[in-house]
Amino acid sequence: MNKFRLRYAPSPTGFLHIGNTRTALMNYLFAKHYNGDFILRIEDTDVERNVDGAIESQFDNMEWLGIIPDESFRTPKDGFGKYMQSEKFDVYKDYALKLVEQGKAYKCYCTAEELEKDREEQIAKGIIAPQYNRKCLNNKVEDDSKPYNVRFIVPENKIYKINDVVRGEVEFNSKEIGDFVILKSNGIATYNFAVVIDDYDMKITHVVRGEEHISNTPRQCMIYEAFGWTEPTFCHLTLIVDETKKKLSKRSGNAVFFISQYREQGYLPEAIFNYISLLGWSPNNEQEIFSKEELVKIFDEKRFSKSPSTFDMVKMKWINSQWMKKMSEEDFTKFVINFIDKTKFDISSKDAEWINSVLLLFKKELEFGAQINDHLDIFFDKELDSKTKEVLNEFGDVSELLSTLENKLSELKEFTEENIKVLIKEIGVDLNKKGRELFMPVRISTTLSEHGPELAKTISLIGKEKVLKNISSIK
Ligand code: GLU
Repeated sequence: MNKFRLRYAPSPTGFLHIGNTRTALMNYLFAKHYNGDFILRIEDTDVERNVDGAIESQFDNMEWLGIIPDESFRTPKDGFGKYMQSEKFDVYKDYALKLVEQGKAYKCYCTAEELEKDREEQIAKGIIAPQYNRKCLNNKVEDDSKPYNVRFIVPENKIYKINDVVRGEVEFNSKEIGDFVILKSNGIATYNFAVVIDDYDMKITHVVRGEEHISNTPRQCMIYEAFGWTEPTFCHLTLIVDETKKKLSKRSGNAVFFISQYREQGYLPEAIFNYISLLGWSPNNEQEIFSKEELVKIFDEKRFSKSPSTFDMVKMKWINSQWMKKMSEEDFTKFVINFIDKTKFDISSKDAEWINSVLLLFKKELEFGAQINDHLDIFFDKELDSKTKEVLNEFGDVSELLSTLENKLSELKEFTEENIKVLIKEIGVDLNKKGRELFMPVRISTTLSEHGPELAKTISLIGKEKVLKNISSIK
C-alpha cells in the first residue's frame, strides 16, 4: 500500500478558525493514524483576495494546536512540486495548453460583456443554470493577440461517480456542468484546475475537505480523467452549524470563532484539539477527553458523521475546564497569571506565593484563563453592591455577629486559614448560629461578595487589614 498523503490546502484569504481547523485536524489525524504524511499547501491563486499575514498566522496557530505539517513551503520535500500555488503558475499554464493541444480544452475569446449578455438571454428563456454556449469551441479561430480564457471541454451526458468516505457513492451528471475555465486570461489557473495538478504532483492519496467543495468534485474528476491520472479518495466532511442551525461563522452568537481568540482568552491547545476532533467525528465509546496521541491512535475514517455537527460553546468550555483541572498546580498558575487584566488588578506589589494561592483557589472552576478576572475583585477594590446587601438583609439584625467577628479577627495574631476556620466555628457556638445563617453574613461582611471559594482561605488571602475594613464598611 502506498504511503497515505493528506493535505490541508487553505487559501490565505483569512485566519484559522473552527471550520478550517477541523479540516486541517481531520487530515492530520487521518494521515497520522496510518503513519502517513500531512502536508500544508497554500492555495493563493486568487491573488486579489489574499490577506496580509494570513499565511503566517495560520502556520503559527496550527503549530500552537499541535497540527504540525510534515511538509510545507517552510519544510518542502523534493519531488512533490511547490507548496505554494503562486510559484506554479507556469506549470498550470503548460498543463492547460497541453489539454488544448490534445483537443480537451480550447481558447475562449469571449469578453465578460458577451458572456454576461448570453447568460441573461438564457435566463430570460427560463434556463435556471445557464452554461457557456460553446461559441469559441464551435468557431475555432485562434488569435493569440487577444486575451483568452482556456475552457475545459466537459464530456456530454456522462455520469461521474465518486466513493466518498463520508457519503458513500455519489453520482454527478456532466450535463449539469458547462465548459468551465481552467486558465484565466491573466494566465492564472482556476482553483478546480490547480488543485488537481497539485494533488497529482504531491501524490495526495486522500482529499478531506468541507462539504462546500462537493460540487467542485465532478469538475476535478473530469480533469483527472483527461490526464489519465488516478483520482484520490474523497472525503467531504459535513457542515459545522451554530445553535440556529446556520453554518458556523464569526457572526454565530456566543461561539468564539477564531483560534487566535481562544489563545487570547486562555484556552489550552490540547482542549481545542480535543473538542474540534469531536465535530463531525466520534469515537466508538462515551469518552470525551482525549489527548492528541489517543486521537491519532483511535481515529477511524468510518466514524465520520453523516449529519451536520452543532458547535457547542458550553461543551468547548467544559472540555477546556477538564484540561485545566489536569494541569499541575505550577503549570496552572504559570498559565493563568498571563490572563490577569493588569489594568484592573494591580499585582505588581504582590508576592508570588500570594498570587499563586489566590489563583489556585479557582483551579477547579475556571473554564478558561481570562475567566480569572471575574473572580479577583474580592482581593482588590470590591465594594458592596445593592444585590449583595439585600442578601445580607435577609438575615435580619447581624450586628452582634459582625462585631464579634470583627473583634475576634482583629485580635488574631496569625491570620491563617486554620485559625480563621476555628474562629468562625467558635462564633457559631457562642451565638448559636450555623450553616447559611452563620456563613453567609461572615462571607458577605469579609469579602463583600455572596459567592467565592473556600471561605477561611479566602479571608486569609484578602488579608487582615482589608477584611476589617470590609466589615466596618457594612456594620
Ligand atoms: N483552497 C480551498 C479552500 O480553502 C481548499 C479546497 C480543497 O481542499 O480542495 O477551501
